[in-house]
Order: sequence, then C-alpha cells, then structure tokens
Amino acid sequence: MDFNPDLGLEAFRQEVREFLQQLPKELTGRPRSTRSAPADVKRWQKNLHARGWGAPYWAEADGGTGWSVQQMLAFDEECAAIGTPTQDGFLHKLLGPVLNEFATPEQKAQHLPASLAGERLWCQGFSEPGSGSDLASLRTRAELDGDHYVVNGQKIWTSYAHESDWIFLLVRTDTNVKKQAGISFLLVDMKTPGITVRPIRSIDDFHHLNETFFDNVRVPVGNRVGEEGQGWTITKFLLNNEHASTAELPSLKRYLREIHRLADTQRVDGERLRERPEFALKLARLEAELLAIDMMVQRVAALEMQHHPDALPLGSMLKIRGTELQQKLTEFHVEALGDCGAVAYPHPELDTEVQLPGQEVGRGFANDMFFRRASTIYGGTSEVQRGIIARLLFQL
Ligand SMILES: Cc1cc2nc3c(=O)[nH]c(=O)nc-3n(C[C@H](O)[C@H](O)[C@H](O)COP(=O)(O)OP(=O)(O)OC[C@H]3O[C@@H](n4cnc5c(N)ncnc54)[C@H](O)[C@@H]3O)c2cc1C
Repeated sequence: MDFNPDLGLEAFRQEVREFLQQLPKELTGRPRSTRSAPADVKRWQKNLHARGWGAPYWAEADGGTGWSVQQMLAFDEECAAIGTPTQDGFLHKLLGPVLNEFATPEQKAQHLPASLAGERLWCQGFSEPGSGSDLASLRTRAELDGDHYVVNGQKIWTSYAHESDWIFLLVRTDTNVKKQAGISFLLVDMKTPGITVRPIRSIDDFHHLNETFFDNVRVPVGNRVGEEGQGWTITKFLLNNEHASTAELPSLKRYLREIHRLADTQRVDGERLRERPEFALKLARLEAELLAIDMMVQRVAALEMQHHPDALPLGSMLKIRGTELQQKLTEFHVEALGDCGAVAYPHPELDTEVQLPGQEVGRGFANDMFFRRASTIYGGTSEVQRGIIARLLFQL
C-alpha cells in the first residue's frame, strides 16, 4: 500500500468542492450519523446523478464513477465537511454490488436506473428475533405458489423500513437442507399487501429502527436474485463488501473537528479547554488513533478492490477499532461540553422551539453518543469480529 500523497488528488478534491459549493443551501450544513430524511437523501442522490456521480463507489463497467479508493475517500470527506445529507448506504455499499454481480439484466433494468436517479430507497431485511449473529438460522419462510413466493415471518432492527420503498430480504425457501443452503435473496416492494412496520425508538431519541412483519406477502419469483438456495453465497459477498466503510472515517473526522472547535470555545475557570494539559493529552491520543484508522481504511479498501484475502481479517480489525473510536470521540464530545453535556437536548432533526442553555453548542452530541453504543453491534458485533480474526489469522 502506497501512502505517499497523490498530487492529482488535490485537483480532484477541488473539483468535488466546486460541485458541493453550488449545491442549494438546504443540502448542506447537516452532518449526521444516521440516514437523513428520505426526501433529502433522494434529492441529494438526484443531484449526484445529474453530475454523473450517482454511483461513486462502483466500477465504470457497472455504471459507477470508477474512482480510485483515495478518490472515494476524498469525496466522502468533502461531503461530510460541508454537511450534505447522507446517501442510501444500503444501495451504494450493499445491494448495488450484489445486483451488479448476481442480478439478471431485467432486474438491473428494473432497479438500478430508478435507484440511482434518487427515486427508490432501500432497507435491509436480514436480522430476526433470535437470528442476528447466527444469521443462517433465520426462519422467515417463502413458499412457492405458482409464479409467486408467499412470505411469512418477522424481521427486526430493520433500519429505515418505515421510509424505504423496497427491501432486500433473506428468506428460507428450503427446510430440508443444511441451514445455509436453504436461504434465498428476494427484492420486495414495501407497498406489497401484508407488510407491517412497527417502530422501535432507540436510546438516541430517534426512530430509525423497526420490526417488520410479513403476513402472506406475495412476491413474484422474478424478484429472486440468484438461484433458489443461493442467498447465503450472496450474503457472504454482500457482507464482505462493507469492511472499509464500517469505521465511518468521515464521521470520525467530523467528530474530531468538533472537538477541536470545543477545545477553543469552551472554558473551565476562564481557561480554554485546549490549554488544560489533561484535555490536550487526551485529544492528542485520540487524534493519533484516528490517523492510524485513516491508514488502515485506505489499506483495507485497496485490498478489497483487489479481492485480496487479507481484506477479511483486516476488515474485522478495522470494524472493532473504528467503532470503538466512534464511541470514544462521541463520549469526549459530551465531556467537553461540561455541564451542558448532562442535558439531553431535542434531536437535531426535530424542528423544535425549545431553547435550553447550551442548546446551540450541544445539540446532537448526546444523541450521537447514545447512537454510537450500537456501532459495535450492527454490521457484526465486536465479539463476532474477534472470532473471525482468530479463525482467519490463528487458524482456530
Ligand atoms: C442500530 C442498529 C441497526 C441495525 N440495522 C439493521 C438492518 O438495517 N437490517 C438488519 O437486518 N439488521 C440490522 N441490525 C441488526 C444487527 O445486524 C444485529 O443486531 C447484530 O447482527 C447482532 O445480532 P443480535 O442483535 O441478534 O445479537 P446476538 O447475535 O443475539 O448477540 C448477543 C450477544 O452475544 C454475542 N455473540 C453472539 N454470537 C457470538 C459468537 N459466535 N461469539 C462470541 N459472541 C457472540 C454478541 O456479540 C452479543 O454480545 C441493526 C442493529 C442495530 C443495533
């Protein structure tokens, strides 16, 4: 991995900045950790699409930009710095690569243009009560009835199901074979009769999680991606694609920038935080950790692009280190707020008139800190990642 600065990258950054500076005001100044409101995600996607950057992370042959890893990372960083809405990560990082690899030409034509044009948002229906880490034990059934599957069961922790147009779903199509071999991958329109979405309100005072119920939901067989029983192969492909992004490097950098801002603006006994040795030392340590993660992200992303086997254990290490740093930085935010850190302000997305002391500076920090408790759970828990590292590196 070559860590030398790429001179062409600065020119690329400048091109991205020029594009971002022309965006309407409403599409900037809103950095967040969870997915932005659906209308904003769609509008942002439309803007990217119009610029020819609708699929920033895909190869040119798949209708993407064909950017290098460094360009993708620079693009993400510039977007986070100006505070664009988030993208539909399920489309860009998970489903898109699956469709490019496994879907029929008809399926691609049905979903890719509409999704990239910002007309269709996706959610992921994998986890079930009792089937999270042990995903292959999932029980949601899909039984053939003519040219349709009839789906019955329950998914849980379905992020943004209440705001999504379609869901990609793992279902059991065969109970008589090894559990991994009986799973299939379906695309389901969320408007199909028989789907019920119930909210789960999380500790960050926001609604992004759901329970999703399927009650005799009829799904055309043509909506199955890959062969019947190929769902587990597709799932492994999908999960292996997301390692480099799990650290959420742009968010880490945003958190650090905000801490630097607080270090200059917050005072204790008349002294700026930055001047207090204990605070300055902690900040320097976290900054060093972030630099190390930055290098690791580049390394993992480069290995992933080469389909190198080392991407797997390194990706798991990155998931652990990156998500732990998300937690440390957001906790440090709240600490840096002093007394104001003890207040749970209304969520920044809520249009509320409440004016509390410190609201302007502290809004969103506690929400982010609480939300980040989940980082070491979603996308594969830290314990499961440690198991993967042990298995792959130590042949356990
Ligand atoms: C904020 C958030 C968003 C999510 N979004 C989605 C989504 O959009 N779609 C979706 O399908 N799912 C989603 N999930 C679900 C997520 O993938 C699961 O929560 C995760 O895989 C863990 O599964 P579980 O909750 O069933 O916990 P379990 O698997 O039951 O784990 C419970 C505990 O046991 C430990 N454990 C389990 N197995 C092992 C093992 N083999 N070795 C060591 N320890 C182990 C775990 O580390 C954990 O501490 C989301 C979760 C969260 C928190």
